[in-house]
Amino acid sequence: MNRKKTESPRGEEEPIKIKTVEHAKDLKWPMIWYFLMGKLYSALPWKKTAWTCAGFPLELLIGFDIFPLHPENMATVAAAQKQSQRLIEHAESMGYSRDLCSYCKTNFGAVDTGIKMSLGGIAKPDIITCTNTICDTHWKWFQIQAEKLKVPIFVFDCPKIVSGTDERTIEGYINYMVEQFYDFFDFVKKHTGRELNIEKMIRASDESERMSVIWRDIYEYRKCVPSPYSSAETSASFFPLVVMPGVKQGIKFLKNIRDDVRRRAERGEGTLTRGEERYRLLFEGIPFWYRMRFMYELAQYRAVVTYEPYTFSFAPPKPVGLGYAESLRKVARIMMDLPYSYNLEKRIRYFEQAVRDYHIDGVILHENLSCRPSSTGMIDLKSAIQEDCGIPVLIVQCDMNDPRAYSDAQMKTRIESFIEVMEKNRKK
Ligand code: SF4
Repeated sequence: MNRKKTESPRGEEEPIKIKTVEHAKDLKWPMIWYFLMGKLYSALPWKKTAWTCAGFPLELLIGFDIFPLHPENMATVAAAQKQSQRLIEHAESMGYSRDLCSYCKTNFGAVDTGIKMSLGGIAKPDIITCTNTICDTHWKWFQIQAEKLKVPIFVFDCPKIVSGTDERTIEGYINYMVEQFYDFFDFVKKHTGRELNIEKMIRASDESERMSVIWRDIYEYRKCVPSPYSSAETSASFFPLVVMPGVKQGIKFLKNIRDDVRRRAERGEGTLTRGEERYRLLFEGIPFWYRMRFMYELAQYRAVVTYEPYTFSFAPPKPVGLGYAESLRKVARIMMDLPYSYNLEKRIRYFEQAVRDYHIDGVILHENLSCRPSSTGMIDLKSAIQEDCGIPVLIVQCDMNDPRAYSDAQMKTRIESFIEVMEKNRKK
């Protein structure tokens, strides 16, 4: 095993650690902005809020001056605050199955117990909207909550672009989605009395693309060896992309992070203390939100997660410089072409390209017991990467929000054996 220790100034052995970038601590500002605005919009009767989900184009809501609240995001807050297990168990006591998505159950528990926002609670919205872009769970989950809270709901039915979908079919899909956008606009007007401000929507989209460009720049720097930024940090710093795309507090934060990362890359510095990176990893899946130390602890083996499709997927190219009708068509296309809706063939190509681009030595696939869309096909994906790229792949069975599925001792053993396999593979 290649655990490496270094000497502290006092001569004691110190484990190698992740060196966070200078502006990492500023994440608190966009977070404070988001939580305060969420509270304000929820409290003032003339302001409107909507629950929405991953894969939904928030620019549409911003065009109506409706503040987006994210049950999934609040579920991660509950996990980070060590509340998710009790909320999940509460949901299970209401009759929901252990196999159900733990974000969904965390939200059921949070609403039923009325837990406060700082611990993962969420306010009742004016409307609920979601899409099956990523999974069908969103539909059922949001329908159940809409019924319980007596809030109107609009669900988008989103086809998928997979390998082999031809342009004619895609055009048909886009027409289908655009029709739903117009129905959605009528729905919002009916239930909130608001009109879409097209200019505001397009501006939000432009600003959102500015934010996405910054994020994509950061990923370019992550290709450097040693990597100047790891998933220990991206898993927190991508927060503005998820819940406040295009908001200036988020853009400012991410710009500072990008500048920190760029300076490191220019100096040839890595994210590990003393720059001793040895194993570059790709981590696929949603992180373990209740156990974020996992990403930091990899450092003691001189392993750095240099790429993860999950955080990258929140920065797809947004429509810019297009008119109203074209913007809607572009938004529709983006919704149908997310990495988490790829079929296996497209997914394998995507991963193998990432392995090459980020100089990856090993891949960890999180087979998430909660999330079938991100876990399906992992065995085939593993075999393809091992065979085509000649690097080891480890599948770990856990859960993003349910700590009952995680064992420290088991994970340690598996990671240590994986490091040994990577070392042998390098020597080969
Ligand atoms: S099943 Fe997966 S994609 Fe769907 S809500 Fe749960 S975690 Fe998200």
